[in-house]
Amino acid sequence: MRPNSQAFKHKSSHDTEREFGGTLGAICIPIFLPLTVLFLICVSRSPEASLLQWPPPLPSSDQLWDPLALVVLLGWIALHALLYLMPLGKVSEGLMLRDGSRLKYPINGFHSLCISGVLLMLLVGLGAPLGYLFELLQPLAVCAIAVSFLFSVYLYIRSFCAPSHALALGGNTGNPLYDFFIGRELNPRIGSFDLKYFCELRPGLIGWVVINLGMLMKEVELRGSPSLAMVLVNSFQLLYVADALWNEEAVLTTMDIVHDGFGFMLVFGDLAWVPFTYSLQAAFLVVHPQALSSLGAAVIVALNGIGYYIFRKSNSQKNQFRRDPSHQSVARLETIATATGKRLLVSGWWGLVRHPNYLGDLLMALAWSLPCGFSHLLPYFYVIYFTILLIHREDRDERQCRAKYGLAWDTYCRRVPYRIFPYIY
Ligand code: NDP
Repeated sequence: MRPNSQAFKHKSSHDTEREFGGTLGAICIPIFLPLTVLFLICVSRSPEASLLQWPPPLPSSDQLWDPLALVVLLGWIALHALLYLMPLGKVSEGLMLRDGSRLKYPINGFHSLCISGVLLMLLVGLGAPLGYLFELLQPLAVCAIAVSFLFSVYLYIRSFCAPSHALALGGNTGNPLYDFFIGRELNPRIGSFDLKYFCELRPGLIGWVVINLGMLMKEVELRGSPSLAMVLVNSFQLLYVADALWNEEAVLTTMDIVHDGFGFMLVFGDLAWVPFTYSLQAAFLVVHPQALSSLGAAVIVALNGIGYYIFRKSNSQKNQFRRDPSHQSVARLETIATATGKRLLVSGWWGLVRHPNYLGDLLMALAWSLPCGFSHLLPYFYVIYFTILLIHREDRDERQCRAKYGLAWDTYCRRVPYRIFPYIY
C-alpha cells in the first residue's frame, strides 16, 4: 500500500502547534490533575461527599503514604509486563510510520485480563482481603502519580536518543515543559516492548476493575452482601474494559497510538487518572449506599445496553471499513473519496453523526452514574468530565482530519452536520 502522502509531508522538527493551553497548560495540568485525583477520592469517602464543601476534606499525611501501596502498584505493573511478554494471542502490525515501517504489537490484553482475574480469585480464595483496597486507595493513587512523574521524566530524557522520524510531530516544539507534557517520542520501546501500547490498556484499565472489585468486597465486609447499585457499576465497567481488551487491535489506529507522543499526558492518564477517577462511583457507594428499585435497575441496564450497542457497532463498522473496505458488512455503505486515497463513510453509523462512538460512550457513562442516585454530584463527575473530554477530543480529531482530508472533510461535514448528538451538537 502506498504511504499516506500527508503523513509523509515534511514538517519542521520544531512544530509550533500547541494543544492543551500550550506552555501554561503544560505547567498547570500536571499540578492540577494529580491534586484533583486525590481530592476526588477524599470527597468520595467523606460523609458529605460534596464537591462544594468548604473547607474541602483533606487527608492526613499517614492516609497518603503506605509502603504496601508501592509494593502493590509495582507488583501489579510487573505482573502485567510479564503477561504482555507471554507468547499468547496473535501479533499485529500497527499503521505505517513516517519511515515506511510498521511496528508489531502482541494482541494479548484480553488474556492478561483473564489471567489476572484468575490470580485475583485465587488470592481471594486464600483469604487475601481485597476490600483493603478501599483503605489503600489514597496511598495507591499517590504512588501512581509519583510513578507517572518519574516515568515521564525517563521518557522525556530517552527521547533525545531517538531518531527524528521517531518523534511525534506535535511533541517536538523545543519547549521542555510542553514536550515533557505532550510527549516527544511516538513509540518508545525497550527492545520489542512498546511502553505506550503497554500502558494504554493494561495496568491502569485492568487496575480500574480490580479497584471496583475491591470496593465491592469492602461493601460485603461492611454490609454482608453487595448492593444492586454496586453490582451494576462493577458489571457495566467490567464489560467496558473487557470489550476494550477483546478489541485491543483497534487501539492501534487510535489517535493516542498513531498521533500522540508518549509523555506525561498519556502516562498520567493511563496509570493514575483512569484507575482512580473512573472507579469513583464504586468508591462512593461503599460509604453512601443507594437503594435501587428493580424498575430503576432495568432502565439503567437498558440505557447501558443501548450505549454499548451504538459504541460497539460504530467502532466495529469503522475498523472493518479501514481494514477491508470491500468486506460484505461495509461494502454497500456510501462513501466519499479523499485526495489521500482513503475514503470516508457517509452512511451507516458514520452518516448519523461524525462521532457515533462518542455518543454511545457517553450514554454508557450516564448509565454508570445513575445507580448512585441523585443526592450527590460526585458520581456524575465521570460523565461530566467525559463529555468535556470527548468534545475536546472530537475538536482535535476534526482539526487533524481537516488537515488530512481537506475539501473532502468539508464535504463530509456538510453531509453529516452533527458531531456527537443528532440534531443537538
Ligand atoms: P475514533 O475511533 O473516533 O477515530 C477517529 C478517526 O476515525 C479519524 O481520525 C479518522 O481517521 C477516522 N474517521 C473519522 N470519520 C470517519 C468516517 N466518516 N469514515 C471513516 N473513517 C473516519 O477515535 P478515538 O481514538 O477518539 O476513539 C476510539 C474509541 O475510544 C471511541 O469509542 C471513544 O469513545 C473511546 N475513548 C474512550 C476514552 C475513555 O477514557 N473511556 C478516551 C478516549 C476515547 P482515519 O481517516 O485516519 O482512519
